This record gives sequence, C-alpha cells and structure tokens, in this order.
Amino acid sequence: MEIIFASKNPHKLKEVKAILDKHTIFGIDDLDIDIVEDGKTYYENAYKKAKAVCDATGKFALADDSGIEIDCLNGFPGIYSARFLGGEDYELINNCVLKIMEGVVLEKRGARYVCAAVGAYPDGRVIEGRGVFEGRIGYGKKGENGFGYDPIFYAPRFEKTAAQLPPALKNEISHRAVAFAAIKEALKCSE
Ligand code: IMP
Repeated sequence: MEIIFASKNPHKLKEVKAILDKHTIFGIDDLDIDIVEDGKTYYENAYKKAKAVCDATGKFALADDSGIEIDCLNGFPGIYSARFLGGEDYELINNCVLKIMEGVVLEKRGARYVCAAVGAYPDGRVIEGRGVFEGRIGYGKKGENGFGYDPIFYAPRFEKTAAQLPPALKNEISHRAVAFAAIKEALKCSE
C-alpha cells in the first residue's frame, strides 16, 4: 500500500520505512504545508498531522507524535521534546539535560520514550497505535546511531543507549516500533 508519512524528520521517516517495510512510504518534503503542533497530547498532535496531510493530498496519511518523559522533571519535556530550548540542537539539549540531572541518583533517572501513531483515510476512518520504550537518562552521551535524545537514553534491558543499539534492533523494540506494529495490524484488517 502507498502511504504518505506526515513528517519532515528524515530520521523518523527512515525508521518508519524500516518498520513498515512491506509498504511504500513517501515523505512530505515536496508538500508546502505548515502544521502547528498545538495539541495537548501526543495523540492530538499525531491526528492533526495525519488529517492535514490526508486532506491536502486526498491519500491515506500516517503521522506520529513522540517525546521523552523524564521522571524527575515530572514528565517534561514530553510533547515539547522537539521544541525544548527553542530548536532541535541536540548537542545543546542533551548537554543541558545531563547538566540539570547532575547529582540525580540512578533510581531517580527513570525516563521513557512515548509514541502515538495515527493513520487518516480520505473517507474519515482513523487508525491508531501507541508505544512506550522504558529506560533512564545516562550519565553521559554514548553511541552514534539514532537521533535526538538517543545518546543519553539508556535502555537497561540491553545495557546500551538507544544510540548504541543497532538500528534494526531499535526498530523492533522502540516506542515507534510498538506504535507502528499496531498500525501494521490495523492496515491488514482494512485491506
Ligand atoms: P515530534 O513528534 O515531531 O513532535 O518530535 C518528537 C521529538 O521527540 C523528536 O524530535 C525527539 O526530540 C524526541 N524523540 C522521539 N522519538 C525519539 C527517538 O526515537 N529517539 C530520540 N529522540 C526521540
């Protein structure tokens, strides 16, 4: 099936192409559309993006909204993860998070990635999936893979940061992988 993925983030597009490898996924680089992410939840933002791109193209569109929730910051930055500190300079952001958390003991460094994925059909039908990837904030930056917070997001289950995980493994177990696995199932039912 041909799917438009409503994101200009090349890292997310790469992950979604790998996860939904039986489908043909297009990005929206060529689409002149500006979507304001002013929802109060991941789901609201993901729905807004999928619906706007579906309306603009007349085709089935998928979107995700995701973020990192840090326990000792009461879940911040959450839906603001991409806008934290005004832009996506992850050198600055990750250094800042590590600095804020200096002296925070291991047991209080819990964090999780959360993802809501939404698919919007031109006839108004909507499908959705959600996923969570539990971990904690490490004590430094490690690894070269992935993007965003991956170098500081430590997954105890694998004894590695998300940036140290082989991409194929991250795409099997991550918040995005779980959310899009549910989308995969819903697509099978709607075909
Ligand atoms: P949005 O869904 O486009 O609003 O952006 C989500 C933001 O959350 C990303 O730009 C990253 O900052 C962060 N994020 C979400 N998923 C991941 C991930 O898998 N690795 C690293 N950072 C992520």
